[in-house]
Amino acid sequence: MKALSKLHAREGLWMTHAPVPEIGPDDVLIKINKTGICGTDIHIWNWDDWAAQTVPVPMITGHEFAGEIVELGRNVEGLEIGQRCSGEGHLIGKQSRQSRAGKFHLDPATRGIGVNEQGAFAQYLRLPAFNVVPLPDEISDDIGAILDPLGNAVHTALSFDLVGEDVLITGAGPIGIMAAAVARHVGARHVVITDVNPDRLALAEKVADVVPVNVAEEDLADVIPRLKMKQGFDVGLEMSGNQQALDQMVEAMTMGGRIAMLGIPPGKSPVDWSRIVFKAITIKGVYGREIFETWYKMIAMLENGLDVSAIITHRFGVDDFEEGFAAMKSGQSGKVVLDWT
Ligand code: NAD
Ligand code: ZN
Repeated sequence: MKALSKLHAREGLWMTHAPVPEIGPDDVLIKINKTGICGTDIHIWNWDDWAAQTVPVPMITGHEFAGEIVELGRNVEGLEIGQRCSGEGHLIGKQSRQSRAGKFHLDPATRGIGVNEQGAFAQYLRLPAFNVVPLPDEISDDIGAILDPLGNAVHTALSFDLVGEDVLITGAGPIGIMAAAVARHVGARHVVITDVNPDRLALAEKVADVVPVNVAEEDLADVIPRLKMKQGFDVGLEMSGNQQALDQMVEAMTMGGRIAMLGIPPGKSPVDWSRIVFKAITIKGVYGREIFETWYKMIAMLENGLDVSAIITHRFGVDDFEEGFAAMKSGQSGKVVLDWT
């Protein structure tokens, strides 16, 4: 089969031929139709310090996918050949206290497909049946291929009650923009999204009903009276990993505000803890998706009017993967989807 693989410990990815994976008794084999390119894949392409320390070579990359089941392991029940699906790319252990308590997303032994295990940028993917998420007919393969990052957005956005709340999202990357759409969908009052990249803010306005703020040009503090907010924001979703954005968020929060942090700072990131204490702010770190509560809620919302389709700005056949990665690396794109059919 064709596979997009990290063949060498240096910059780049290579299209190669690999054997179709053999499945075990509890696995399924999925024929891949569409895949999404993630920021993680860009780290692996660039072979930065994180990638070099984390990813063994050779490795088939990719973890955002939609496809169809073509083979079932002998123990697999409740799924069938021909079923369209996406799936959770975090492969969890079953031994930890967290897993045994049903908090699968908190299992410390989690391994990622396309990072620690052979991934989805291939014509076929082996996946534990446990990880499969069937797709209803209304959800296209394009959207199926971006459920992983939409799940990050949903998990973060649903961390706190948003109904009637004023929400600040820092970082209008694909995940921040999708989180804005989710915040709107579930009934937030104002949704303000910040970035320093005007193209990203323009895309945010296409996808969701948001107030875009370019913090390279405008002071976030000026937005609070403009929107007739009495104090600051009730809920903050940090989706940039940028130090300045986090500082601005802490300043812009109301007393007792709640912050969910998805963005990953590049290194240690200092925080003015006395501001956190005196403003009585709650901070929650967010990793991945809740398995499978996020998937359930995400699919229910997509079936009930949540529309994030405009976040997909580029589509390429898989043989043009280099163009897809270039679009993603430009910083101007939303999600980039590769077609394997
Ligand atoms: P992205 O890099 O595409 O988007 C980040 C955005 O932040 C960019 O548009 C950038 O211009 C913007 N930004 C930079 N400086 C800013 C500033 N001062 N103020 C406001 N915005 C600023 O990333 P993405 O794919 O949308 O992911 C968002 C973040 O979530 C990244 O940090 C990513 O590493 C992280 N992430 C975390 C998890 C997890 O499980 N915790 C999963 C996926 C992604
Ligand atoms: Zn991803």
